Amino acid sequence: MALSDEELDRYARHIVLPQVGGAGQQRLKEARIVIVGAGGIASGVLPALGGAGIGHLTIIDNDRVELSNLQRQPLYESDQLGERKVDLAARFVGKRNPHVEVHTVADRIDGDNADAILSGHDLIIDGTDNFATRLTVSDAAVRLGIPLISAAAQQFQGQVALFRGKPCYRCFVGDAFDADDCDTCAELGVLGALTGTVGNFAALMAVREIVGIGPDAAGRLHLLDGSSLSWRAIRLTADPSCRICGASS
Ligand SMILES: [Zn+2]
Repeated sequence: MALSDEELDRYARHIVLPQVGGAGQQRLKEARIVIVGAGGIASGVLPALGGAGIGHLTIIDNDRVELSNLQRQPLYESDQLGERKVDLAARFVGKRNPHVEVHTVADRIDGDNADAILSGHDLIIDGTDNFATRLTVSDAAVRLGIPLISAAAQQFQGQVALFRGKPCYRCFVGDAFDADDCDTCAELGVLGALTGTVGNFAALMAVREIVGIGPDAAGRLHLLDGSSLSWRAIRLTADPSCRICGASS
């Protein structure tokens, strides 16, 4: 699966980077990444990963475009209200880069379908807006042994972390949110420019992870305060009694 002349041109600014090169670009082309949720976070993730030449992207979402999405979801346009997000997101990526194979799942991920949908990918990016889905995705990621980038934005706060086994997302948030579906940005609000920034940061983390650039990012939570314009990172600790990753070594 060598890179064509067109691809060498397309990715020239990657390939000239010593940390990426032709070998790194090839790794991006061979990568299979799944993004859960095609909303504000995905609107930062998909343009970046589509452009970067990720070989296979799976997009999961069961929503249709609503007027209130447009403030933070530049994947969608004002004349697309009511259309399925996965179809539009796939078309967007396809137009940006025809080398990307896009697979869509117009379904809500849950405990019954998570393993089947997520298996076979090299990396999961979660950009959903509720804890119940996030925990379902995280539990599946640990079971399947697939690294998970969890990205969230609410009000002026952004959070992004890479989880690889232990600690897992559940160690971080605990079990209390399994059934909690109400704490979403619909109620609390979110600045539109923040979701794109957080999504783009998640895409950067994904490219680092696939190519193998810089120190390992796993187990650190990156926090963006959009009101003070500051980033900080904290180390996450594993919960020894975590019912998902606690028993594994
Ligand atoms: Zn855990």
